[in-house]
Amino acid sequence: MKRGLLIILSGPSGVGKGTIRARLFADPKLNLVYSVSMTTRPIRPGEKEGIDYYFVSKNRFLDAIENGELLEHAVFVGNYYGTPKKYVDDLRDKGLNVVLEIETEGAKQVIDKCPDAISIFIIPPSFDELVRRIRSRRTEAEEIIQKRLNKASYEMQLLDIYSHVVVNDNVDKAAEKIKEILRGYLK
Ligand code: 5GP
Repeated sequence: MKRGLLIILSGPSGVGKGTIRARLFADPKLNLVYSVSMTTRPIRPGEKEGIDYYFVSKNRFLDAIENGELLEHAVFVGNYYGTPKKYVDDLRDKGLNVVLEIETEGAKQVIDKCPDAISIFIIPPSFDELVRRIRSRRTEAEEIIQKRLNKASYEMQLLDIYSHVVVNDNVDKAAEKIKEILRGYLK
C-alpha cells in the first residue's frame, strides 16, 4: 500500500488554519486525517479531549519529550504543543494523508526531519487583518492576545522554509488552492 502523505499546515495564530482545515476535510477524495496534538494549554469552552487536543500536564509533556514520543514540539505563548509520532506513522502506514496543523517552530522541525513532508504556509492578506481576527476570537485575556500578536509578527517572517505559501483573503479560495496543491501530490 502506498504510504500516506505528511501535510504541514502552518501560519500565524489567527490566520484561519482551523477553518481552512475544516474545508479540506470536507473533501473525502483527499483521504485526510487530522493529527491530534498534545498540549499543556488549558482547554477552551467547546473543545474536546482527544478531538481538539490531548490536554496533559507539564510533567506528562516533559515525559513525552524525554521518551522520544513526539515528532516535534514547541512552546507557544507559555504552553507546550507537540505531535505524537507513533500516531502519525501508523496513520501514514495505513495509507491515510495526515495533516499537522502546527506553528512555525514545530513546522521547521518536521521539515528538517521529514524531507517528504508537504509544507504549506498560510498568510493573512495583511497584518491588520490578522490583528482583527485574533482580537475577534475573544476567548483570551489581553496579555495573551498581545503575546499571540507578537509571535504572529515573528512567524510571518518565516515563510521561506515552506514549499507552498497561500494567502487567506477568502477561506473558500484559499482552501481550493490548497486542495489543488494536494491533488498534485495525489496523482
Ligand atoms: P491554539 O492554542 O490556538 O490551539 O494553538 C496555538 C498554536 O499552536 C497554533 O498556531 C497551532 O497551530 C499550534 N499547534 C497546535 N498543535 C501543535 C503541535 O502539535 N505542535 C506545534 N508546534 N504547534 C501546534
